[in-house]
Amino acid sequence: MSQIPNSLHGQDIANILHPYTNAVRHQEVGPIVIERGEGIRVYDDTGKDYIEAMAGLWSVAVGFSEPRLVEAATRQLNALPYYHTFTHKSNEPSIRLAERLVAMSPARLSKVFFTNSGSEANDTVVKLLWYYNNAMGRPERKKIISRRRAYHGITVASGSLTGLPVNQQDFDLPIAGVRHLTCPHFYREGREGETEEAFAKRLADEFEALVLAEGPETIAGFIGEPLMAAGGVVPPPATYWQKMQAVCRKYGIMLVADEVITGFGRLGRTFGSDYYGIDPDIMVVSKQLTSSYQPLAAVLISDELFEGVAANSARIGMFGHGFTTSGHPVATAVALANLDIIEERGLVANAAAMGEILQKGLASYADHPLVGEVRGAGLIGAIELVSDKAGKTPFDPVGKAGRYLFERGHEHGLIIRAIGDTIAFCPPLIITQSDVADMLARFGRALDDTATYLRAGA
Ligand code: PMP
Repeated sequence: MSQIPNSLHGQDIANILHPYTNAVRHQEVGPIVIERGEGIRVYDDTGKDYIEAMAGLWSVAVGFSEPRLVEAATRQLNALPYYHTFTHKSNEPSIRLAERLVAMSPARLSKVFFTNSGSEANDTVVKLLWYYNNAMGRPERKKIISRRRAYHGITVASGSLTGLPVNQQDFDLPIAGVRHLTCPHFYREGREGETEEAFAKRLADEFEALVLAEGPETIAGFIGEPLMAAGGVVPPPATYWQKMQAVCRKYGIMLVADEVITGFGRLGRTFGSDYYGIDPDIMVVSKQLTSSYQPLAAVLISDELFEGVAANSARIGMFGHGFTTSGHPVATAVALANLDIIEERGLVANAAAMGEILQKGLASYADHPLVGEVRGAGLIGAIELVSDKAGKTPFDPVGKAGRYLFERGHEHGLIIRAIGDTIAFCPPLIITQSDVADMLARFGRALDDTATYLRAGA
């Protein structure tokens, strides 16, 4: 990237260990410093504009310049900039947000625990399941089942639930008691002649066989993103969730819907659970909850779980879990204003309408020689690039085409995500029809450049 070196760039290189970055390469290329945002666009310190086709990190529903969220934060900072929720204390925005989340979420969820991040929320899920099963006199029921290519975070427990090698290799993860099932990706995992339904049945059978092999009395929970995002944007095959849910019910396994990306409209329904007909015992939300203007996540739990946890907290003396900033008043006030905007502007319906246009636009690349698969749902989609279309052959090394296209995207004013050779799109929910067209036009230019680069034998 042709960034102009300046002191800020030098100081970044000198002082920051960047997340999800090749730290050696960063010393050479330095940062792209983003200075400001406007709607779905962000601007770097040279004034160059980018369409933020990833909504930051799948998270900025209302765009990058929403004054009402700034006002909500300012109002709350003036009224009460911080207070905690330990030892029976509370604050109004947290109370109102919890009530609102319970009202809008699937019926059985009735209590909310606030954290700062999705990772902390999923660590909380693991601890809640352990605590609950100890409370119920079932100390052997502790294992959690996840899927390969799942993304549930990077802390010690959530990073163990995640099913991506880069999050575990050399971090000494996963911890004991976590199992991973096959990723429900029909294009990559489906067999010759298999229908989506037959694939879904095979995956549910695999789940049941694992439960029986481990002993159903040892399995506490099954966790899944309704639509896998960070692992490559993988919509599940038809009937997958009904079948996986049936296995959970049969063996008394708590079903955890990780809605950190799918929550608040991403699929054109309020939750991914609505979209796929999932009835979870636990739901995790974050990201679009505040449009990431403030760090905030929440774990919603069923009455059944709450009753067990509450009784145990009484026996021990307290529920010994919580963060300094659990239920932070500024974060929860921003979430309330953000949810107001999503509702008032009909952004869930807009995501459904713009999603249709996005999916059609992406599908128009299906015949391109570099494109192996186009997939997605609502306002999240992906294009998987392959070196040989007929053989679905990945590039060697994996990520060669994706990385190049990602960098060409920057040149063309487009921020996308390359997951290996899969290019992800997850724009803000406020996107308009002409913005979708502009986004895809920029992508088309970057794809053409990539085809030329690959044809040149690079
Ligand atoms: N769950 C899912 C589904 C996610 O996509 C993410 C983040 N991309 C997380 C959990 C972790 O959230 P955080 O980065 O806030 O810890």
